[in-house]
Amino acid sequence: MQDCIFCKIARKEIPAAIVYEDEDCIAFPDINPQAQKHILVIPRIHMEDALDCHDRAPELYAKLLSAAMKAAKREGMDTGGFRAVTNVGENARQSVRHVHIHLLGGETLSPRMG
Ligand code: 5GP
Ligand code: ZN
Repeated sequence: MQDCIFCKIARKEIPAAIVYEDEDCIAFPDINPQAQKHILVIPRIHMEDALDCHDRAPELYAKLLSAAMKAAKREGMDTGGFRAVTNVGENARQSVRHVHIHLLGGETLSPRMG
């Protein structure tokens, strides 16, 4: 999508310090980290949210989940653990309408989920 920030990052029109990439997905640090380590994992092609991706491209959704686990390992987040979160739509306050998985870790996280 032309004006989507994450599409622009995927096309490398906006810089991001990519920590993992494969044919279908890329991962990069969140610009406004909510934990010591905060990585975003996205598919290269535009899907609005996790439901949209799962409905329209279930194989891609599975690849996104797999890419998230690989990125977490690549970033050493498997040591000590991490949280993987996906906001879907208004109730969850999804602010970027390009599906993404937040990986949060590097420290002990809040017991609250939201
Ligand atoms: P959401 O609220 O949609 O689940 O999360 C969107 C996330 O994208 C936010 O945590 C926000 O900080 C991050 N974000 C927004 N714009 C940019 C950007 O241009 N670059 C990066 N790296 N992260 C961004
Ligand atoms: Zn997009």
